[in-house]
Amino acid sequence: MQICPRLVLRRALIAVCLALSLTTAVHAQAPSATKPTAQIQTLKITVLSTMLVGETKGIGEWGFSALVEADGHRILVDTGSRPETVLSNARELNVDLSNVHEVILTHNHGDHVGGLMTLRREMMKQDPAALSVVHVAKGIFYSRPSPEGEANDMIAIRKEYEATGGKIIEHQDGAEIFAGAWLSGPVPRKYPEHNWSVKGKVQTPAGLVEDTIPEDQSLVLNTSRGLVIVTGCGHAGIVNILTYATASYSNQPVYAVVGGLHLFPANDEQVNWTGDEFKQFRVSNLLGAHCTGIEAVYRLRDRAGLSRNSAVVGTVGSTFTLADGIKTGPLAK
Ligand SMILES: [Zn+2]
Ligand SMILES: [Zn+2]
Repeated sequence: MQICPRLVLRRALIAVCLALSLTTAVHAQAPSATKPTAQIQTLKITVLSTMLVGETKGIGEWGFSALVEADGHRILVDTGSRPETVLSNARELNVDLSNVHEVILTHNHGDHVGGLMTLRREMMKQDPAALSVVHVAKGIFYSRPSPEGEANDMIAIRKEYEATGGKIIEHQDGAEIFAGAWLSGPVPRKYPEHNWSVKGKVQTPAGLVEDTIPEDQSLVLNTSRGLVIVTGCGHAGIVNILTYATASYSNQPVYAVVGGLHLFPANDEQVNWTGDEFKQFRVSNLLGAHCTGIEAVYRLRDRAGLSRNSAVVGTVGSTFTLADGIKTGPLAK
């Protein structure tokens, strides 16, 4: 087979440009956000919505949700895609959500916010305070106009949710939501990771621009073993998220990354670069769920020097704890 020399040259140029753009910047730029110092001693994260079912419990979907339990605090990160998935998976996994009062929505996409109203209505029958506070970041309510109309479900959900007595807290910046738990708010996009695939537009105060999902936020848990970072889709770019989080915590090592990293469409150069960066950030565990991509998890494992126990594909019911690390379904082991 003959390969066109022009094509080879073009590919080489693209690879060099990507490598340069992704490697020239340096780490650790201190953000203006608050720098909390409290440390979490016990932590359990349970995945309640993701693509893969690792055993016979639960149903898989294109979505994400995880329950975070830290030193007695319980908070739900995202709510899955289909209205009933998280409700039904939580029941099958014997996870009680009726005493969880707060929710973090990482961004506006339907595969993260689709379960909110079902969960709120169902759980408030047992306790009116259940899932009654939602943390979001600035930008989540910006209009996403499309030929079919408004593409941002959160605009309608906001009205429905507030009608149940629920309260939405919109963060402009990072904020400590309980001792040792820092919500990033919008993440500075230092590197051109471009980890989103929607070709939509967003109506910002500055005008109609490409939708970079500016509100995308992650939860950063300051634990006795290092930082544990929970992402939804990681649209801000996982390296941008790690850069921002570690700068807020004096460059502590990252003990774990849990959630979706949106690397399934990424090319080899980007995934390899991300794996090399994981090494720099001393990432010890990766529970790659949702849109991380299965091949991406394995490549990140190799590049970051992790193992079959410490870099694992997330399944419905998979857990991460400080004491035992990652446990996932037999299919993903
Ligand atoms: Zn998304
Ligand atoms: Zn997603």
